[in-house]
Amino acid sequence: MTKKRAIEQRCSFCGRLESEVAVMLVGIDGFICDQCVDLSYDVIHRMQNDKSKQEKEFQLTALPKPAEIKRFLDEYIIGQDDAKRYLSVAVYNHYKRLSQATADDVEIEKSNIIMVGHTGTGKTLMARTIAKILKVPFTIVDATVLTEAGYVGEDVESLLARLLQVADYKVEDAERGIVFIDEIDKIARKGDNPSITRDVSGEGVQQGLLKLLEGSVVNVPPQGGRKHPEQKMIAVNTKNILFICGGAFDGIEKKIAQRLNTHVVGYNTVQRAQTLDKDNMLQYIAPQDLKSFGLIPEIIGRLPILTYLSPLNRAALRAILTEPKNSIIKQYTKLLAMDGVQLTFEDEVLDYVVDKAIEYKLGARGLRSIVETIMMDVMYDIPSARLTTYNVTLEYANHQLEKANLARLQIA
Ligand code: ADP
Repeated sequence: MTKKRAIEQRCSFCGRLESEVAVMLVGIDGFICDQCVDLSYDVIHRMQNDKSKQEKEFQLTALPKPAEIKRFLDEYIIGQDDAKRYLSVAVYNHYKRLSQATADDVEIEKSNIIMVGHTGTGKTLMARTIAKILKVPFTIVDATVLTEAGYVGEDVESLLARLLQVADYKVEDAERGIVFIDEIDKIARKGDNPSITRDVSGEGVQQGLLKLLEGSVVNVPPQGGRKHPEQKMIAVNTKNILFICGGAFDGIEKKIAQRLNTHVVGYNTVQRAQTLDKDNMLQYIAPQDLKSFGLIPEIIGRLPILTYLSPLNRAALRAILTEPKNSIIKQYTKLLAMDGVQLTFEDEVLDYVVDKAIEYKLGARGLRSIVETIMMDVMYDIPSARLTTYNVTLEYANHQLEKANLARLQIA
């Protein structure tokens, strides 16, 4: 009896005797019983679950909030507050959708966006800027290259091929991505009436696009472009891909004005007409205007968030020159600093550049060409001139522009 007790082992964790448990495992210098193994397993499992849950929650809280996204956009883009807010919320909600519990009854649906704004008001800039802080694959594609299947051009599926490329062909990642479709207005049907003739780059493309916007499994040729029968396709589900569309919709103001004038009849018409901001009619845009322009209602329905970009006035153009984080003036200052030269501009030069951009209707894009024209000779001479400072005067700027014949920039 005494002998047996002497050799009977105890669990090093709970102290139970070998005879009191089903199994006793032997370690290098200790023992563990089956009950302690079971208990340890439960504890470890629970701890791991808590940790991954915390990590998940942490990820959600680590995502930039709409206000933070907008602040980031503010650093690069002047004005356009409405579009920035819409875009920030859409991106944040996209993240939320991606992290929603699948077993839930309330499924958050995606809200694709359409941004309407004159050319050169910052639509593409907005897309490029937001791409810098996105946590999901993102690509910008141009709707003008799209044609109906079977015609010269790219199939609608090529949009997804680009997204796959940025996602390193990880389908799961691409399926959570964001696609910015630029110049969506170029695939509008010409006019409100369905055309009887074939419309290669119009309604057919819209139908193709609709399939993607609705959320479906699409076979994508990995290299983009045209499908070949022998090519191996990759199946991509577009259900969770967020689509952001942008377009100038030239002339849509007329449709907006028509709608506003015809809808408000009688006494109110006069009052309404007076309060309308005629310089920025896009702010009144409504889905039916897109329909009058030639987008099919099904597409419009799949782009539930409609926002606009305002035309850039003198103050905005002036701010664009100097304020954004990588403004044109900051870029030139940096270029010359690399040659050891501190570059300065007279304030009048900046006003003059803006005046010329307005005079020649060059918009924000023209600002760069104007500054470039002014700076050409400076850029040529300075690196070998052994200067430490250089001040661009109004007289010099004027002289350079006159020499260059600014009117030629208008075509650019
Ligand atoms: P859109 O896509 O609307 O035609 P872009 O975004 O391509 O216009 O704008 C053209 C250029 O003009 C940009 O690269 C940028 O340099 C300048 N720009 C336009 N709008 C803005 C803005 N709101 N803030 C800062 N820069 C702007």
